[in-house]
This record gives sequence, C-alpha cells and structure tokens, in this order.
Amino acid sequence: MARIKAQALSTVYPNGVRAVDALDLEIADGEFFALLGPSGCGKTTLLRTLAGLEQASEGTVAIGEKDMTAVEPGRRKVAMVFQDYALFPHMTVAENIAYPLKVRRQPKATQREVAERTANSLSLAGLLDRRPGQLSGGQQQRVALARAVAIDADVLLLDEPLSNLDARLRLEARTFLKRLQREIGITTVFVTHDQAEALALADRIAVMESGRIRQLGSPREVFGRPSDTFVANFIGSTPMNLLDGTIEGGNLAVAGATLPTPAALPDGTKVTVGIRPEYLTREPAGRGITGTVSTIENLGVSSLVTLECPDGSLLGMTVREQHEPRAGAEITAVPEQGRLLLYSKEDGTLLA
Ligand code: ATP
Repeated sequence: MARIKAQALSTVYPNGVRAVDALDLEIADGEFFALLGPSGCGKTTLLRTLAGLEQASEGTVAIGEKDMTAVEPGRRKVAMVFQDYALFPHMTVAENIAYPLKVRRQPKATQREVAERTANSLSLAGLLDRRPGQLSGGQQQRVALARAVAIDADVLLLDEPLSNLDARLRLEARTFLKRLQREIGITTVFVTHDQAEALALADRIAVMESGRIRQLGSPREVFGRPSDTFVANFIGSTPMNLLDGTIEGGNLAVAGATLPTPAALPDGTKVTVGIRPEYLTREPAGRGITGTVSTIENLGVSSLVTLECPDGSLLGMTVREQHEPRAGAEITAVPEQGRLLLYSKEDGTLLA
C-alpha cells in the first residue's frame, strides 16, 4: 500500500494541449479518491500520468516514498482498469485474470491458484472457463477488477469503470467496489464524470477543470460548501440555486426578499447567493423567499418545485410528496440555518 504524491505536475500533449496543468495532489495510503469533472478536464490524462502511460512534461509523481516520474509503467506497482475493461476476447476468464502473472513468468500452478482465489473474492467462481463474450457487463467489469488486483499492486487506478453498466447494475457494482476497496485497503484513484458516483464512493474528491483542481475535499465539504460557482454548478443532482444578491443595511437582499446575511460585507456589495434546493424548507411563517409555484417535477420521494420570485428570478426547492404545493400557489422557502452561501461576483469564489 502507498500514498501518491504529485508535485507541480503537468502533462502537455504534442499538439500543445496542457491536459494537466501544474497540479499538486497528495492521496493518502489506503484512500478511495475520486477525480471528478466535466469531459475534457484532464481526469484520464492525470490518471494515465500517475500510471506512467503518459510522460509527465513537468513536475514529479511519487508512489510511497519512491519518485516514479521516470519509472516505466510495469515497474510502478500500479494496477489499472480501463473504461472498456480491455479484456482479451479469445482468453477464458481464468486466463484473463492470470494474464499479468503470465507476463511476469509465474508458474502455471500459481496462475491458476491466484485466478481461483481472486475469482472467489469477486463472485466470479464458476465462470473461470467462460470467455468475456459469454459474460454480462457487470461480470466483465469484475473480471477486469480481478485482473487488476491479481497482481500485488500498491495502487489501483480506475478509469470510469462503471460507465458501461446500466443504472441498476451500476448501483450494485458501486457497492461491490466500495466493499472490495475496504477489504483489500488498496490506495484507489477513481475517475468519473458522475458526481453522484463520486459522492457515494469516495473518501475525498478532487473536482477538476482545465487540468487543475478547483476543489479538494470530502463529499460533504464539496457538496455542502462548494469553493466556487463552477463546483457549485457541477455538484448536486438538482443544480444549486445561484441568484443575484446585494448587501443592504446589514441584510441580504435577494429575489425580492430580505434575509440575514451570513457574512458582514460592506453595504452595496453585489454577490451571488448559493442555496441548494435540498436546503430550502417550506414554512408558513419565517424569513424566506416568497414566490409563485411555476413548475413541479417529480423526483421520486420528493419533487423539485420551481418558484417564480417577485424580481423574476427562479428558485428551485425540493419538497416531500406530502408537502407538495399546487401550481400557482404562493409559498415561502426558508433556507436552513448555515446553508446560505455567498460567492464573489467577480471570480465566483466562496466568500462565506
Ligand atoms: P473525458 O471525461 O471526456 O474522458 P477527461 O477529463 O478524462 O475527459 P482527458 O481525456 O484527460 O479528459 O483530456 C484532457 C484534454 O486533453 C482534452 O482537451 C483532450 O482533447 C486532450 N487530449 C486527450 N488525449 C489527447 C492526445 N492523445 N493528444 C492530444 N490531446 C489529447
């Protein structure tokens, strides 16, 4: 097991794209770490640079205490699972799992023994003689994982390993992956563009944009206090409300309402007010934002209610089924204590 440390790491492609840009990152021993961000932000490139599959243009990568920047991929003690699993179609499950051992010229008996043991721990016993084409997507994914953990690796790198599974299998595979990682305790870096997956699985998340890390924190921190409006927009299955606000007479004027401000800023300061739909409650009386219900979307146990406020801005709030208002009704949405965030109008960073 080992920690991973990247310092001032850049990866520049021959066409000049700086896919990873002067990035500093430390991942603790045994941690389950997610790299999250929109398409093209550099997640895969960062993962491949940690694995040694891409050459770092500047900076260093260390695994454990060892500087790996110039070490070839096969000697980094890193196991990687790719998005498409990259299984060999002409080999059986057992041969696929044992392949890294074969490459390392381990005896046939060891290969079979490791394949059987790993297959057992990944619920693949009984499938050892099948070929990948005869397996479900979830089973293929587990074979790819089995092949990765069959070698004695220090670090497990996963590039969107769940993205080829349908919604139900994905949930199952998520739980499975979390359990497996806990059991073997291997330092794991997991690339995903699915924020719900990152929130559910990771000990910590790095939210990336343009080759840099915008925020690094626990799922709770990244969800509850996004460090800027980019992260605020990206995280959350229903988007965070981001409204124009102004500090007036020590209060916060927003969406036609006057609320207590979470920070003492000079009068007249213009801010972006962030509040998650989940942190608004419907109260008959209370200091909140009043608006008219314009749309109601069913989310399952709750609904996303959109209010049209007196100044024309739209405010989303989630409401439990039994409290669902009627379209056209006037209701007041009260922010939960401590959940109102203020962002800078200039650069979108969190002020309070
Ligand atoms: P996705 O979620 O779509 O896989 P990503 O966050 O993993 O995206 P990367 O695949 O790392 O992003 O790509 C980062 C940037 O580098 C993008 O602008 C991409 O076009 C560029 N890029 C990726 N691979 C190469 C390559 N081999 N040569 C040149 N540019 C590349």
